[in-house]
Amino acid sequence: MGVPLLDLARQHGRVREAIDSRVRAVFDSQQFILGPTVEEFEKAFCEYVGCAHAVGMSSGTDAQLAILMALGVGPGDAVITTPYTFFATAGCIHRLGAETVFIDIEPETLHISAAQLEAYLKEKCVPNDDGVLCTPQGNRIRALIPVHLFGTCCDTDVLSAILAPWNILLIEDAAQAIGSEFLTKEGEVKRAGVLGDAAYFSFFPTKNLGAAGDAGMAVCQSEEFAAQLRLVRNHGMEQRYYHHMVGGNFRIDALQAAVLQAKFPFLDEWNDGRRRNADLYRAAFSDLGDCITVPAEPWKDKGLVNHHTYHQYVARAKDRDALLPHLAAHKIGHAIYYPVPLHLQECFSYLGYAEGAFPEAEKACRETVALPIFPELREDEIAEVAAAIRSFYRK
Ligand SMILES: *Cc1c(COP(=O)(O)O)cnc(C)c1O
Repeated sequence: MGVPLLDLARQHGRVREAIDSRVRAVFDSQQFILGPTVEEFEKAFCEYVGCAHAVGMSSGTDAQLAILMALGVGPGDAVITTPYTFFATAGCIHRLGAETVFIDIEPETLHISAAQLEAYLKEKCVPNDDGVLCTPQGNRIRALIPVHLFGTCCDTDVLSAILAPWNILLIEDAAQAIGSEFLTKEGEVKRAGVLGDAAYFSFFPTKNLGAAGDAGMAVCQSEEFAAQLRLVRNHGMEQRYYHHMVGGNFRIDALQAAVLQAKFPFLDEWNDGRRRNADLYRAAFSDLGDCITVPAEPWKDKGLVNHHTYHQYVARAKDRDALLPHLAAHKIGHAIYYPVPLHLQECFSYLGYAEGAFPEAEKACRETVALPIFPELREDEIAEVAAAIRSFYRK
């Protein structure tokens, strides 16, 4: 029979009417650039995430770029992130002329390693005359970008504490974590997006809340910074044709905002569905021993609903490279996130990282496989995926 990795057509049936009427309203208004449809979505987004300000952007990548531009990140600066993420996270740092610094990941959560970060800052970096912590190359460390990978939040309490002695901002890559929750040390349940100084989200069609094309969101708590983001988004202009700064065209389309607003009410239910599917996999793989290591659920015991939002279901698989053709033969949709860690990408060879520099990230790239997890997946399909995997290990 076969099981697709993702089938967006199954969700469209339920949202078609809501999308049609909202899209029609945008056409009737002929207001395609910013305006009330975008503002309505930004407001709803603030309410959901719990942030003070949300600025709709043309993609997750552009939202990140806009945040870094609004901070004035450029040559002479450095930004720290993980080598085990989608390319955009590091690409934006490079594009602004800043130094990209990678720190290895923790093997269970696949998040950036707090211990490695602390060791890097303490052992490799020194403050300059102004007291700004600098990399060995002499660049000022401006920000850390942890990635809430695959749908669980990084431990931002621990990361913030490490950054606290320095003026280093924490910018969340929440592209894969809309709705994901974290229990702070103060005992507050917070969503991804309000755990640092600023954050960005992606509405790429395959993300948990997907647009009909590209779209993204930058969020923050400071009104002043939000105003900067709005400027950067629109060529640095407030009054038309008067430019305070050089920005870009990073505006979200009103049509995309309309589509997202129509789908938004379903998000919690979809995230529930993803978690239910993960539970079914956990049960199905329970007797496979160390052949399949299911994804970690680091915040499960904290009483959170959205402790994981399973943007992807990424498991470690013994003998992975032999498993892949077996899955293909059984028509089981699968993917590798990510086949090559960023520090070993050709375009970043100039950074001088060699193979072995980040063993955990490299190992994750060799050992993990993503299986179908989308909310509309049926129980019999999950059973089919599990049976195909079982037949590989229990020949
Ligand atoms: C999807 C994604 C992005 C970029 O989002 P786009 O909307 O595709 O530009 C950035 N970071 C991560 C981790 C992502 O998964």
